[in-house]
Amino acid sequence: MANELTCRELVELVTDYFENALSETERARVREHLASCDGCDTYVEQMRQTIQTLGKLEEKDVSPEAEEKLRRVFWKWKDEQGK
Ligand SMILES: [Zn+2]
Repeated sequence: MANELTCRELVELVTDYFENALSETERARVREHLASCDGCDTYVEQMRQTIQTLGKLEEKDVSPEAEEKLRRVFWKWKDEQGK
């Protein structure tokens, strides 16, 4: 498949991933990316913890603020990797 996710695409999908709102195909692509990208794997793990802390995981809608915050955490982390 020439359809590998980029890290940016993963960030776009990850909220839906946690909400189980992705199709099987999309979930498989996310898992595939996580298996081959340590950075995103770590990010998703951190995000999982953040969502639990925010208590939003069971809610259908993660607030835009929370989502924005998670995105900032991710890009800050990317910067720190110097990539
Ligand atoms: Zn990645």
